[in-house]
Amino acid sequence: MKKSMKQNTISRSLCILSKVCLVLPLAIFFFASCGSKKKVENKTIMVSIEPLRYVTEYLTRGNFKVETITPREASPETYAPTPQQIEAIAECTAFVRVGSLGFENTQIRKVTDNSPHLYIINAAANTKQLPMCDHDHGDQHHGGEDPHIWMSPQNMKIIALNIYKQLCLLDAQNADVYKSRLLAFSKEMNVLDSLTQQRLDSIKNEAFLINHPALGHYACHYNLLQISMEHDGKEPSPRQLQKLLERCKEHGVKTIFAQEQHSDKGVKRVAEELGLEVHYINPLSYDWKEEMERITQILLQK
Ligand SMILES: [Zn+2]
Repeated sequence: MKKSMKQNTISRSLCILSKVCLVLPLAIFFFASCGSKKKVENKTIMVSIEPLRYVTEYLTRGNFKVETITPREASPETYAPTPQQIEAIAECTAFVRVGSLGFENTQIRKVTDNSPHLYIINAAANTKQLPMCDHDHGDQHHGGEDPHIWMSPQNMKIIALNIYKQLCLLDAQNADVYKSRLLAFSKEMNVLDSLTQQRLDSIKNEAFLINHPALGHYACHYNLLQISMEHDGKEPSPRQLQKLLERCKEHGVKTIFAQEQHSDKGVKRVAEELGLEVHYINPLSYDWKEEMERITQILLQK
């Protein structure tokens, strides 16, 4: 009798002990989770450039606040984020990077390396890569690839997919919403792509001149030749300018572009010599689709 009472007491103690063992780690986990809640609730996604805000906002439909690092007038190749922006990146939920911009691999890498809660979305993953000629984006690690990946509807589809995958991890409850937005976006990109292809078919293999080589992916995808004014990220010397002028004549250049964020001095000189107009474009525009359509329209109006 005594023995069974003793056994009961032992088994009760073991039971209490096992409960404590089970409850205590759960309680610690719960309080630890509460401690990090502030970061989870801060639903801001930061992106490097405006075209990435365009696609991110298309997918998120207001579920996240989306902020761009590079201001309109700045070139992302040479831009340095402000201390306030660096602080905001450390506090945000996710950061969408192009993958090969100067500041992404210097200032921002330092922040992201020290912010384990931060999701990094590499927009360029699985996109078509092109070699970059005569151009320096202030980054020694991108292996000479053309960073302007967003200037192609087919690449934009892949960028959207990369962002979508991460959104589903960040906000699984709304995964269905993000999926339908992704499908709508992909459809729009296919329509834009085939329309552009049809429209540019009549000027296949034609060349255009641009101050900064932002249309490499566009030119490659639509069988056009991009002639860039910049050489190693710098304005050409008088000798190089003369050679460029000859090259433009040789290829029968009829369209001259100037990206707003870069110097138009050289292209203006060539335009004067050839009796052409300089068309100002903004490949870093938030209204990415309109800008793509405008570029196609300019190429056709001669
Ligand atoms: Zn550029």
